[in-house]
Amino acid sequence: MIPGPFAYHRPKSVQEAVALLADLGEDARPLAGGHSLIPVMKLRLGAPSDLVDLGGIADLKGIRTEGAEIIIGAMTTQHEIIGSDLLAQRVPILRETSLLIADPQVRYMGTIGGNVANGDPSNDMPAVMMTLDATFVLAGTGGERRVAARDFYKGIYFTALGPGEVLTAIRITPPPAGHGYAYNKLKRKIGDYATAAAAVILTLESGKIASCAAALSNVGDTALFAEEACRLLVGTALDKVSIAKARAAAEAITSPASDNHGPAEYRTKMAGVMFERALARAFQRAQ
Ligand code: FAD
Repeated sequence: MIPGPFAYHRPKSVQEAVALLADLGEDARPLAGGHSLIPVMKLRLGAPSDLVDLGGIADLKGIRTEGAEIIIGAMTTQHEIIGSDLLAQRVPILRETSLLIADPQVRYMGTIGGNVANGDPSNDMPAVMMTLDATFVLAGTGGERRVAARDFYKGIYFTALGPGEVLTAIRITPPPAGHGYAYNKLKRKIGDYATAAAAVILTLESGKIASCAAALSNVGDTALFAEEACRLLVGTALDKVSIAKARAAAEAITSPASDNHGPAEYRTKMAGVMFERALARAFQRAQ
């Protein structure tokens, strides 16, 4: 199918984009890589009156450090995330996750900003951003504000983004050197969204877990921060009893739909399996 009619705008700055979105009203939408938005328009599940293409705004591109933080511009593509030496060294879970998103064609176009702003629980990056305790920078006509990834997701396609606001960047304080990390994703084939997936980041001290953060993808209305599961693991050496308790706590926060990925009960169990596998890999990787 082809999309309905729309007007196309290509601003050169964030200020221009934000002003355009304010003028055009609630039927206008930012366009990033288009790999979620355009399919929605082609299926006529959405019909924005105007697309405000963020692709001409140089300030939204690139990966840099600022003090202790790494700043990733919203229009940085998944492909660029995979190719970044800085991220490979300091925040390797981003590369691992990006490589599990779709296929190379989608990753050449799809942006990190679009992935996290989309509000679709089947996107992989929201859970990773929660695990990293990332901060999203949002710009609107009233100026700039920052929202923690853990507070950003409100429901299916419902985020803390206000009308006309643009996500400009993601700010991440890299986990300490020697941390363990893993993103485990169950999918039926290459290019599929997750049946269930889990992100884990942890640190060890004297062989025991000193800190742990985890989140789950596509087993609820939003990505799910698995706070209790991690709390149960801190201070343990990942023994079988602690793993079982933490896995049960992770499964308990899920509420997946029964759909073409499988029945809800199966997806809940798979979230537990993905969590346990990510935990084991993160533990093994931690020094
Ligand atoms: P767009 O499609 O342009 O935008 C998505 C939404 O976010 C729109 O509502 C848009 O208005 C809004 N938006 C975009 N950028 C901003 C911004 N800076 N500020 C405010 N709002 C913004 N994703 C996964 O995570 N895992 C997968 O396994 C996966 N598989 C895929 C398979 C296929 C075949 C395809 C086509 C896509 C798949 N995707 C998957 C989705 C892909 O990662 C998208 O690129 C991503 O979801 C959206 O990024 P985008 O840059 O394309 O955003």
